[in-house]
Amino acid sequence: MINLNDPKLNDQMIQADSCYWALCNEIKLMGNTTFTLDKCQYMQVIMNDSSRFVCVMKGAQARITTVFMLRSIHCLGHGLYSKGVIYYFPSRDAVEDFSKTRFTPLINDNPCIKRLLQSTDSVFVKRVGKSFLTLKGGTATKILKGRKKDSMSVRSTPADEVIRDERDLFDDDMVQMTKDRLLDSVFKREVDLGTPTMPDFGIAKVFTLSDQKNSMIKCEGCGAYTCLVDDFPNSVKYHKSTTHVNYEPYFACIKCGKEIDPFAGEFVAKYPNREISGYHVPHLMTPHCELPLVMSRWEECQIDGSKAGAFYNSILGLPYIAAEDRLTESDVFACCGNDVMRTTISISQTAMGVDVGKAYHTVVIGEKVDDKRAKVIYLCRVKGFNAVHDIAKKYNVKSAVVDIRPYEESFNLFQKSEPYRVFGAEYKDKQREFMKTDERQGVYSLLRNQIFDKTHHWIKDGLVEIPRKCAEVDEFAKQMCNCAKVLEENEQGDRVYRYIKLGDDHYRSAMNYLWLALGDLTAWQGMAAPGFAMAGAGEWNPLTHGL
Ligand SMILES: [Zn+2]
Repeated sequence: MINLNDPKLNDQMIQADSCYWALCNEIKLMGNTTFTLDKCQYMQVIMNDSSRFVCVMKGAQARITTVFMLRSIHCLGHGLYSKGVIYYFPSRDAVEDFSKTRFTPLINDNPCIKRLLQSTDSVFVKRVGKSFLTLKGGTATKILKGRKKDSMSVRSTPADEVIRDERDLFDDDMVQMTKDRLLDSVFKREVDLGTPTMPDFGIAKVFTLSDQKNSMIKCEGCGAYTCLVDDFPNSVKYHKSTTHVNYEPYFACIKCGKEIDPFAGEFVAKYPNREISGYHVPHLMTPHCELPLVMSRWEECQIDGSKAGAFYNSILGLPYIAAEDRLTESDVFACCGNDVMRTTISISQTAMGVDVGKAYHTVVIGEKVDDKRAKVIYLCRVKGFNAVHDIAKKYNVKSAVVDIRPYEESFNLFQKSEPYRVFGAEYKDKQREFMKTDERQGVYSLLRNQIFDKTHHWIKDGLVEIPRKCAEVDEFAKQMCNCAKVLEENEQGDRVYRYIKLGDDHYRSAMNYLWLALGDLTAWQGMAAPGFAMAGAGEWNPLTHGL
């Protein structure tokens, strides 16, 4: 029989359970609130999850940063970790902001935390018990030529647990480096947190790999289970108000319509055997969610589709991408013709796009159909420039555009030795014009957004035919879709579109280069090339061709 009044047991509970510790000490949080589980039982479940890898995909105001900050302080203060915890924010500014507005008040307002912390001058490192809680910005600080991005702030500090907050703002190299901090630990715990942005990206990708826990609410009337998000908008019904004209929305059982308590859910895993413990915490189940407000925003989304992204991300805690911002595999397969990949030599003149990679080179061969349309006759992944040479010879390539990085020297040799026009290509994020041509070096500098837009429309408008479906075409389709257009804020605070990579996208780059290479066939065939002419002065129309 457990007696909670036993002071010894109480001490042991405080030692072992960070949530119990925070409750007993009535920890003061921002805005004069006290840590409580009222309307947020989910916090207790997440705080007490001892899995090695936890991820939380969350909507707005889910209080998850608080959960993990308190858990870290508790673990360190009670000597559970010897190597410390590193809490990563996406940037140094975000760390400073957090430290000043939330962390310092948390220490000052709570004697029980102050007692655990030794005084340090640094806003970034706090000594807790015998170990350290380090707050870091995860942004890459420099790009070394030919080497991985390395950041001073990520290197060199060992840890027992790393937490990455706002996961979508970390790039994959940076994530790997934060994992390396754990190599020397017996615990090796890691946590990913964040509001999702796009499907297959960042926190949404991690959540997909996890056991995928959603809060399920049991109806007191009929016993059926409702998931606020998966069943949205059917999980909301309306009371007819007698005094107002308005209808009052409420969360309802999807089976019988009886009102359900959004805070009474239990996490149920979709894939219980998976190693990563994943939680989905939408804004709908947080204590300050105001349903009438949520529903009026939802109605606005029905009228203005451009508002849907923000609603999905911050209210439902789900990733979202508008159809026009990313190709789908069915867009690509819709371009498949009846012809299988060509295996015999080519008589007509062809163009080639090559993406150069460490593991393999990605090659796409195409020919012109008329002044707008093109046909891909062959695509493959091969090792080394010699293999590329053999393919070019077989298919009668007269124009090639090849990635100059990362093997610039090999490219230069290839360019010199091939008996047809070979141009190098590199992407630029900042450049006034779509394309700069260095005739002497034989290099094109391309504005990344615009060249990706061109191949996006090439596929969407069905202006390029690709070979009949086969295993390699399947891979091609997958890679063509592994990038998406997102709205980002640049250093000047302007909102700009940028294509970001969601996985291997070598075939997409090879197609970008093929698009250019076909344009250069004009020199050989005297025809206007598909696409290339569009880039001519004055003809580029962002309204029809995208930004
Ligand atoms: Zn019911």
